[in-house]
Amino acid sequence: MTSRGSSRMVNRCARGGGIGGLTLAVALSQLQLDHLIEIDIYEAAPELTQVGAGITFWPRTWDILEKLGLDIALAEHLAPGQHVPDGTPRLAFQFRKGDQREGVPILDLVIAGAALSFHRASVQEILLKQLSPAIRTHLSSRFVSYEISPGKEIGLHFENGTKATCDLLVGADGLRSTVRKQFVAENTPEGHVLSTDPVWSGTFAYRGMMSSQFIKERMPNHRVLSHPTIYCGKNKHVVAYPILQGKIVNVVAYVSDLRMEGSVYEGPSFKDVSREEAISLYDNWEAEVRILAQGMEKPSRWAIQAINILPRYAADNIFLLGDAAHAMTPHQGNGAGQAIEDAYILAKLIQKALHRDNLSLHRLDQVYDGIRRPAANNVHAASRAHGLLYELNAPGYEWIKEGDEDLPEEMLMKLGKMITDDWEYAWTTTIDKDLQEAMEAMS
Ligand SMILES: Cc1cc2nc3c(=O)[nH]c(=O)nc-3n(C[C@H](O)[C@H](O)[C@H](O)COP(=O)(O)OP(=O)(O)OC[C@H]3O[C@@H](n4cnc5c(N)ncnc54)[C@H](O)[C@@H]3O)c2cc1C
Repeated sequence: MTSRGSSRMVNRCARGGGIGGLTLAVALSQLQLDHLIEIDIYEAAPELTQVGAGITFWPRTWDILEKLGLDIALAEHLAPGQHVPDGTPRLAFQFRKGDQREGVPILDLVIAGAALSFHRASVQEILLKQLSPAIRTHLSSRFVSYEISPGKEIGLHFENGTKATCDLLVGADGLRSTVRKQFVAENTPEGHVLSTDPVWSGTFAYRGMMSSQFIKERMPNHRVLSHPTIYCGKNKHVVAYPILQGKIVNVVAYVSDLRMEGSVYEGPSFKDVSREEAISLYDNWEAEVRILAQGMEKPSRWAIQAINILPRYAADNIFLLGDAAHAMTPHQGNGAGQAIEDAYILAKLIQKALHRDNLSLHRLDQVYDGIRRPAANNVHAASRAHGLLYELNAPGYEWIKEGDEDLPEEMLMKLGKMITDDWEYAWTTTIDKDLQEAMEAMS
């Protein structure tokens, strides 16, 4: 770091190339800090690509994407009938009990704004276009370890033998974060052991996409053609929504064995599977679900893993961001949303620190940790709870069997209410209050 009064301060921020790391790079690009900091992205993969799958953003996340100037390009990918949030109440998701021959409604989740879904590759492409040309990206650079010198410079080591130094390191390296492993080991009080390895939720997700045409030909009025739907059932649920201007439907079909929750998953985290494997799981579900299972092109099976919540996200100018900090189950569709919140807050904090007259990074880590950790850890817990709700395993619902058709209406309505509670923050609040608190804490 250069001395007080200098017009240039060198920070190199290292991270992977996922949605979290790229959003931070875009947020910093927007703040036009190129004359003050140098940014390097170190990505383990040889190219920046995203696996083909859908991703949903809630109004709270959308508001940040709008602030980052990404909304117009993203909006071009919306399906007909989808609208960017403008405060008008809209059907975000329909919830049904689908594990029976004739499904029944649970909830029409109508929210001010909308839940907007995209192909991940489209999101990455749009993020990449917004990067400042001053940002250097180093591909095939797998981060291995860091060390902090007595002068607070951070040394970085990569698997390919290269080394680098920086003043601020952001580990946005996902579920299996290497930065997290070292960070937690070095910040856990002696005598305490905190495992940072991902643990299995007991859930597999079958992910696949299909053309809307496939569905139209079999059921022209299939609800997924017009709005996102979650089909709930015992130990299973299916999430489906249109992406790519409605030409494609993204399907994620979950199946859980809660007895395995918390265990270490031994097999490959994801693998290609036959369509028959997915179809057989939903044989007795309502016709809409059977069509979705039948149509999945090249389905793959993912073991859904999360990390135990962390007691710290940042210290000594090492920051954890996105799944590196809070990999969670996907049941509130908000893991990337939380990564985007981390990125937005951190970029603003860096800007604030750089514009203070002593160009000091002092307190940045404490403030980031104080604002982002409670928020993201809450979403982590709420996501797990939502998985239990969708799969009829929440307290009071454990006795229900797959295919039970006679659930009292009030139980379904109560389920719908519980789904809405603990999730409303995603459409009734914005990041502004957190940002204000962060700025005040920096002052
Ligand atoms: C089935 C499913 C559905 C989901 N749906 C949603 C949704 O609808 N909405 C939502 O908000 N979230 C959703 N999520 C969660 C979301 O996908 C993740 O939270 C998000 O992608 C995490 O982004 P990230 O940038 O933190 O990590 P990643 O996307 O994992 O990126 C990490 C990057 O770091 C790189 N890397 C890893 N190790 C190293 C290393 N040692 N050195 C250098 N680079 C490294 C990787 O190659 C990668 O590019 C879903 C998740 C799943 C599994």
